[in-house]
Amino acid sequence: MTPLLEVRNLSVAYGAIEAVRDVSFVVEPGQIVSLIGANGAGKTTTLRTISGLLRPRSGEILFKGKPIHKQPAHETLANGIAHCPEGRRLFGRMTVEENLQLGAYVRRDTGVEADMKRVYDLFPVLGERRHNKAGLFSGGEQQMLAIGRAMMSKPTLLMLDEPSMGLSPIMTQRIFDTIKELQAAGTTILLVEQNALAALALSDHGYVVDLGTTTLDGPGHDLLANEGVRAAYLGEG
Ligand code: ATP
Repeated sequence: MTPLLEVRNLSVAYGAIEAVRDVSFVVEPGQIVSLIGANGAGKTTTLRTISGLLRPRSGEILFKGKPIHKQPAHETLANGIAHCPEGRRLFGRMTVEENLQLGAYVRRDTGVEADMKRVYDLFPVLGERRHNKAGLFSGGEQQMLAIGRAMMSKPTLLMLDEPSMGLSPIMTQRIFDTIKELQAAGTTILLVEQNALAALALSDHGYVVDLGTTTLDGPGHDLLANEGVRAAYLGEG
């Protein structure tokens, strides 16, 4: 089977700083795959390169078997990859509904209203506050809206960068439950998380990224049981 996403020997630099070095991983259709690792390991840079916001120095990115690393970001989105960035990047002066509509701007089909309803079913608080400005929301509500906005492009692959950042434990659990629900509804997920415990518990497969390169991978539960992973990323040892 062709993987949905294949990153091959990817290297990305900011001028002289090589942020990603020879990273390779695959995401199979229907999986939740997580990239875990310390601050500055290169996870965000990897997602931004898949999105088409950055260009690789070398290596390849294939989506459904076709190279996408030279394609502009709007084409990558239209092809089915949505990116929910770190820090949410919502339009604070726009309402919930306007933010969701922006998420659907690449679509030409007539299902936008139905999908907005789906977001409101998943996150009722967004439906209740659909005419309120996003900038007034709590961190957890903003994260729900950022995920909802990414869902509005109807992605085949949804990339989430640090969705639990700054959230309370209860809200973090809610967001991770939602990620499972999205998978059950057919969306493939690529997750970047510093909360390695929660991410690996949820993931079909995980990759450890260290100093710009992938050092270890395996099924989420195997990595959770790995002593090196536990010592380095789960605060044990
Ligand atoms: P975090 O969780 O903090 O976002 P990360 O694993 O996602 O960490 P990146 O943000 O991809 O890591 O950063 C990888 C490396 O690239 C770091 O050394 C960082 O300082 C550097 N870097 C990131 N963005 C830039 C930039 N715009 N210009 C220069 N260097 C950058």
